[in-house]
Amino acid sequence: MAMKIQEFEHVNYLWDDNVADQLDAVERLRYRSNILGADQRITNTGGGNTSSKIKMTDPLSGAEVDVLWVKGSGGDLRTSTRANFASLYMDKFLSLKNIYDKSDVRGVKTEIEDAMVDMYRHTTYGLNPAASSIDTPLHGLIAYRHVDHMHPISAIAIAASKDQEGLTQEVFGGEVGWVPWQRPGFDLGLVMRNTLKANPYLKGLIMGQHGLINWADDDKACYELTLALVERAAHYIEQHDKGEKTFSGQKYKSLDETTRNEILIKLLPVLRGKVSQSNRFIGTVHMTESVLQFVNSVDAPRLAEIGTSCPDHFLRTKIKPLYVDWNPQTESVGSLLEKLEAGLVKYRSDYASYYEACKHPNSPAMRDPNPTVILIPGLGLIAWGKNKSESRVTAEFYSLAIEVMRASEAISEYQGLPRQEAFDIEYWLLEEAKLKRMPPEKEFARNIVVVIGAGSGIGKATAHRVAKEGAHVVCADLSESTSQETADELVKIYGVGIGVAGTDISGCGPAIGLGVDITKRESIKSMLEKVVLAYGGVDNIIVTAGIFVSPDKNGYMPDEKWALTYAINVTGPYLVADEAKVIWQAQGLKTSLVITTSANGAVAKQGSVAYDTSKAAANHMVRELAIELSPLVRVNGLAPATVVEGSNMFPRDRVVSSLTKYNIAFDESETTESLRDKLAVFYAQRTLTKSPITLADQAEVAYLLSSSKFSKTTGQIISVDGGLHEAFLR
Ligand SMILES: [Zn+2]
Repeated sequence: MAMKIQEFEHVNYLWDDNVADQLDAVERLRYRSNILGADQRITNTGGGNTSSKIKMTDPLSGAEVDVLWVKGSGGDLRTSTRANFASLYMDKFLSLKNIYDKSDVRGVKTEIEDAMVDMYRHTTYGLNPAASSIDTPLHGLIAYRHVDHMHPISAIAIAASKDQEGLTQEVFGGEVGWVPWQRPGFDLGLVMRNTLKANPYLKGLIMGQHGLINWADDDKACYELTLALVERAAHYIEQHDKGEKTFSGQKYKSLDETTRNEILIKLLPVLRGKVSQSNRFIGTVHMTESVLQFVNSVDAPRLAEIGTSCPDHFLRTKIKPLYVDWNPQTESVGSLLEKLEAGLVKYRSDYASYYEACKHPNSPAMRDPNPTVILIPGLGLIAWGKNKSESRVTAEFYSLAIEVMRASEAISEYQGLPRQEAFDIEYWLLEEAKLKRMPPEKEFARNIVVVIGAGSGIGKATAHRVAKEGAHVVCADLSESTSQETADELVKIYGVGIGVAGTDISGCGPAIGLGVDITKRESIKSMLEKVVLAYGGVDNIIVTAGIFVSPDKNGYMPDEKWALTYAINVTGPYLVADEAKVIWQAQGLKTSLVITTSANGAVAKQGSVAYDTSKAAANHMVRELAIELSPLVRVNGLAPATVVEGSNMFPRDRVVSSLTKYNIAFDESETTESLRDKLAVFYAQRTLTKSPITLADQAEVAYLLSSSKFSKTTGQIISVDGGLHEAFLR
């Protein structure tokens, strides 16, 4: 079976001795895992596991012991670090079989089988906190030093074919055995061990409806064997590829990019609203050539109904996707929306029937019955998940399932997992326990928050504040580069996630940076359209953008500056609300708008008539919009005063002129920040709380007003001014 590197056409050979030979044994396992996970044809994001049995020193006895290092529960091979691997004393792990054998009732799906998962913790080597996965016995019970269990498209294609056992023999000529589908666990480990004992020449096994497992006593040899087996299966499939006849040929044509995006912009918010009735979802659109070939095909409705096969895939894609039979060449968007509505009703009722038919007396309650994958001819695939990364993983998994179906239908006939087996995975009590152990979701989890003015000052601080609450943050600003900087900071803190799918802007992370000029309706519209394509909709909007133009020392302000002040401080937030209204109404989900006004809106004084009256207008606009947008959108105002810290409303010349005006001593050589601090201290002394007002103070209230903590408050202006009695509203 040995192959030379250049012979691999269907997988990437990534092993480099120069790298591997520098590493200790555990790091070599991490390295092998990372390079296996880096090729989606070998395994999916988060899927598969690897192990090495490594000789180590026992910290208590000092003796040399065998330790099983195996990818733990959760985690992802491509991005795994050492911390993602569990470590178990081999002798203690093997002794668990005595406990298993003592149980009168044992075998797949028995209580003792599930109970074994908790026992693994007793075998932990080196106080390693990584939790062992249900696949641990698949590694521990195979008597080879290194084991790879992958979910390769080509192997699942064989495993999900009607004639899977015969195909395994035909493709691998007896070097790889076959075991029928069985839910992973201790018993499957024993089945594999017995199969290997009876057929000691086997190098691996095709696992029915699931994937591939193979082994070797050398780690590099194990890696190369995995690649060779995947390559061989992929080569066999290629020989049988049906070309244009794939999926019985094409029934519809793909739409061009402009038309497609126009439709998606109308469609996504409506769809998001409909699938988010119990839980909000974040969307990902995925439209590769291969996905389009599937959704446009004759066989798509039949194959979609069969559902995905690999259990790892369908935990996210659900048992089946929603396919909508819409003709993109002859039918209107209106008819697509009608068909989607009818499709969703049918999908939910099918899901409820599946639950009722398969449930056990102790099954957890039925989960959200909405689809997570929606297939539309001409357009592609739309996936939904609790966050961006999850929805990208879901999109990836269905696109991998499409490749499995393509291959399986080329060599045989595609088969899904029996419904009851799918149910017993989806509603597995161990799976439920895992869900229950998850920390509660954050305030802005599942939310898309647009912060306009996020390039600096209060907007930037607010973007950081809402991101901390789990929001997907759209950082928008007149300056695209500063908004991108803020978005980059957020992605750096929170990570881009493990998902890899998503077309164009939809392949983004938890934050994006966009340019917008709020004095222009077209610019706002185009910004919001990008948000819809990126995440599927829009929830909260917080506008912090504003302008203060100082009149000259005679109090003169040119007419165009007066007009600009109103365009940015009043008309701008109005246009934002007016454009967002279209999306909010299409979505039909409760949300909020926060407009930043100013304490100056209530305090009359000299020298800032344009700014002050514009903020007074904005205050009243908050109240008007609260009425206009109810009951869907709460609208509130945040009225800061004299935040000079890091604010571009206080450039150096304004700070200097204020310091001069108030007779505060300063030196021209001082930095702008130091001059701002002096002014901030002076301003603080005029307030009731006597403390400088910071960006964080403003961001906190912008966040709170948007959050559910203020769910019964609308049409209000909250001052964050340290307490200025002149600004008290009456
Ligand atoms: Zn698996």
